[in-house]
Amino acid sequence: MILPAPIQNLINAFSRLPGIGPKSASRLTFFLLNAPEETSRDLADALRALKTETAYCQTCFNITVAGREQCEICTNTERDQTVICVVEEPLDVLALERTDGFQGRYHVLHGALSPIEGIGPEDLKIRPLIERLRTGEIREVILATNPSLEGDATAMYLRQQIQPFQVRLTRLARGLPVGGDLEYADQHTLLRALAGRQEMESK
Ligand SMILES: [Zn+2]
Repeated sequence: MILPAPIQNLINAFSRLPGIGPKSASRLTFFLLNAPEETSRDLADALRALKTETAYCQTCFNITVAGREQCEICTNTERDQTVICVVEEPLDVLALERTDGFQGRYHVLHGALSPIEGIGPEDLKIRPLIERLRTGEIREVILATNPSLEGDATAMYLRQQIQPFQVRLTRLARGLPVGGDLEYADQHTLLRALAGRQEMESK
């Protein structure tokens, strides 16, 4: 059966999303086709705003509202400016914020090192992190990359880069599900990992 282009286009667009196979893509498309017009209009508006009305914080690279130089966490003077928690994705910031157990600031790398996928240090926000350390205001860096092969490799690389600076360097405690993402860890596990963070030995 050959579908009209507008339908096929939307099926194709949905299929490119993570976790959506061709069947789900068709189901979503036909749902929208049969739903009141405002359902698809609301979705279209939200999709358009997603990119045009958001931006990355120029300090920590977390997500913020477009037109703002810094995110709410970086501009919050109540928070400890001397501690930086380094995470892979903005969703990890959300997960750590939900624990209510961290009062410092963040740095979002936007990924992890992965030779297999061709992701090197230059593809991540590592250089801006080093720049932040150069200010000399930082006392501690917590490496909160995922407990995975890539996350560990990234932590090891960052250790080398951060060592020349006189800062306390810690890594989230074990106990997080190995291979899992920080964002999927429950609040208690995450809080425990944060409280039990360990010094990274210099080798
Ligand atoms: Zn920020």
